[in-house]
Amino acid sequence: MLKKMVLFPRKNKKNEFDLTLSQRQEINSDISTTNWKRIRIFMVATLFFEILLVVFNDIPAINTYPPGELWLANSYLLLHLIIGATALSGILLNSVALKKEWHKKLNNDYLSLVLNVIVLVCLSIITGLDQIKTGQISVFVINLLVCGVLVITPPLFSFFLYSIPFGVFVTGLFLYQPDITTRNSHIINGGIFLVAVLLISKFIYDNHVSHVVKNIKLEEANQKLLILSLHDPLTNLSNRRNFESHIEHELALIKRFSQNSWLILVDIDHFKDINDRFGHAIGDRVLKDVADLLQGNIRDVDLACRWGGEEFLLLITRIGSDEVLSVARRLCNDLERTSFNIDGQVVSVTASFGIAMLTQHGLEDNDFLTCYKQADQALYYAKLNGRNQVVMAD
Ligand code: GH3
Ligand code: MG
Ligand code: MG
Repeated sequence: MLKKMVLFPRKNKKNEFDLTLSQRQEINSDISTTNWKRIRIFMVATLFFEILLVVFNDIPAINTYPPGELWLANSYLLLHLIIGATALSGILLNSVALKKEWHKKLNNDYLSLVLNVIVLVCLSIITGLDQIKTGQISVFVINLLVCGVLVITPPLFSFFLYSIPFGVFVTGLFLYQPDITTRNSHIINGGIFLVAVLLISKFIYDNHVSHVVKNIKLEEANQKLLILSLHDPLTNLSNRRNFESHIEHELALIKRFSQNSWLILVDIDHFKDINDRFGHAIGDRVLKDVADLLQGNIRDVDLACRWGGEEFLLLITRIGSDEVLSVARRLCNDLERTSFNIDGQVVSVTASFGIAMLTQHGLEDNDFLTCYKQADQALYYAKLNGRNQVVMAD
């Protein structure tokens, strides 16, 4: 149940961010990670002050308080020990949680927030006890403010997070503040602080979410731009730039492992006639369908690229000459046998194929160009021999 819950950010009515579920989970996880880290700082500071208070204030107070007020000194000591223990377990849990990425798995940070509530509730009780001697409420309001600024929570969640300690704070005032005017003034001041903290918390939450959303959208746009810059928009195949960078990598592998890879240059036969007969728009759709057929019939480790116009270039990796020949022949036959149905028009095309080997032998900086020229020459012979056939360079 917890795993599936996405607490932050809830889809608002206007769906202003237009986020997918995984993007909302990403934001959720970002907020949780930030909260875990911030709460750790809060817990470390709390533990430090609690140790000081226990050693220099609470323990000496047990000996100095009159017997009638010993319960008060013991209560302070007990509460500060509880807060110290909570802070210590918070720090330990925090490092385990961050290491094991619990916050990502649970998709929320209930645990860290529960620890926060325990600390705030203890501090509210202390503020209640403070009414007996000092009458101050600073412990409660300062810590409320610190938590409100540190922890990122959606408004409804903040309401519960801060209302519970506030309820304890009010109860403490009723129990231990005998002066009605002071009590009412403390309740009003505490209430004003609660509202202020809720507003600050909402502001911080909204700011954080929109900041993370902006980053996600920017990343998404960058990803789209990257895909656009590497692919041909009509066929979705790789473009020249992408293909050439793969070739560079492939040549490095060939040199390293002494294996053969191949270029197959594919040119649709008489494509000009297709355009003349059916129109340019249908010609475009034929190009897309041919591209899909080529892409769908090579292995994932191979690469198909739209080299330009009605020409495609395939990189077929690490197989022998007989195998690459049969790959090209299969593609040639598939194309001949396939009829593309485009808007009710049945279009058939054939293509000519020129194959050349990318080898390690005698390769200089222009390996690819040399190989491409050989494939182009082979393609030329395929056209000359009557098209719709495969020719391999010598
Ligand atoms: P060949 O068998 O000798 O290759 O004949 P061909 O007609 O295919 O070759 P040619 O080079 O004479 O003509 C290529 C045609 O491809 C002409 C051009 O209009 C068309 N073409 C190139 N790019 C596109 C495109 O993006 N969309 C469409 N619809 N046609 C294109
Ligand atoms: Mg051509
Ligand atoms: Mg052609």
